[in-house]
Amino acid sequence: MNLLLTGGTGFIGRALVKALTDRGDHVIVLSRTPHKTAQGVRYVQHLTDISIDQPLDAVINLAGEPILDRRWSASRKQLLRESRIKTTASLVKWLGGLEQKPEVLVSGSAIGFYGSQQESLISEDSAIVEGFTHQLCADWEAEALAAEALGIRVCLARTGVVLGPQGGALAKMLMPFKLGLGGPVVTGKQWMSWIHLQDEVRALLYLVDNPEIRGAFNLTAPSPVTNEVFSKTLAKALCRPAIFRVPEFTLALMLGEGRELLVKGQRVVPTRLTSLGFVFDYPDLPGAISASI
Ligand code: NDP
Repeated sequence: MNLLLTGGTGFIGRALVKALTDRGDHVIVLSRTPHKTAQGVRYVQHLTDISIDQPLDAVINLAGEPILDRRWSASRKQLLRESRIKTTASLVKWLGGLEQKPEVLVSGSAIGFYGSQQESLISEDSAIVEGFTHQLCADWEAEALAAEALGIRVCLARTGVVLGPQGGALAKMLMPFKLGLGGPVVTGKQWMSWIHLQDEVRALLYLVDNPEIRGAFNLTAPSPVTNEVFSKTLAKALCRPAIFRVPEFTLALMLGEGRELLVKGQRVVPTRLTSLGFVFDYPDLPGAISASI
């Protein structure tokens, strides 16, 4: 299979590229920085670097500025939006000019689509709560869905917190926990919907490989946990205590409005994937954490 990836140099993208090349697929990665061609992978800096008659079976679109690396100023929020929405719009416009269109576009999204919610279980059809993250994801998804008008099947990957070795959210949490200074965020009662990196990659491939499915999918493990349970599980795996609570004002200083992602949670379940028979390698948190630290 021939695939084009955006975001293929990122935490999820690197694991995805490895899985694709391991199964013999040929990958083109669109990246803002130059990289040397590797076995089965060619890096390009511009879509115009790809020949118009390059055969493409699938496109996976994961590009976007990191969400929680900096405080959410007005300009940061604009960058979070533009790096996803404009990039996706340019990609779909470029797809429109191809003579041979790929069969499928799998495009990134996040459980932020549902907004900040409390206790209720969230499936793909659940009601949303308005706010910045909902609007960002909704606009990002809308640009991807425009590819349906080109005859391309579109799947939207509404991803939860991805846990895996060497990167992502866990890499940021590990240091305080390893020092015995970790603990729940604020009350710890907010829900965390997570997925192990291996399952994230397998789910993305599942969306690529099954031509009969389209639309939005929650990419989260079937067992979301509260932040308190998450903190205790991580601390236990590291044989450390989890007694220090992270106060909201610290997060407000570091992340501004972005702290809401950590303080208010979402209890998301992968209803569509499980009803299709997708089986998670890491359905429970302790196993996912052990495999990630
Ligand atoms: P990373 O931050 O590790 O990688 C993001 C990728 O996007 C990089 O490879 C980079 O490619 C590209 N990128 C970054 N900034 C820009 C920009 N301004 N314009 C264009 N491209 C940019 O992200 P992850 O791999 O963790 O996540 C991939 C996607 O999945 C993201 O869109 C993220 O929002 C979403 N997601 C991730 C979650 C997680 O827990 N990891 C949870 C929910 C959603 P390059 O520098 O090569 O151009």
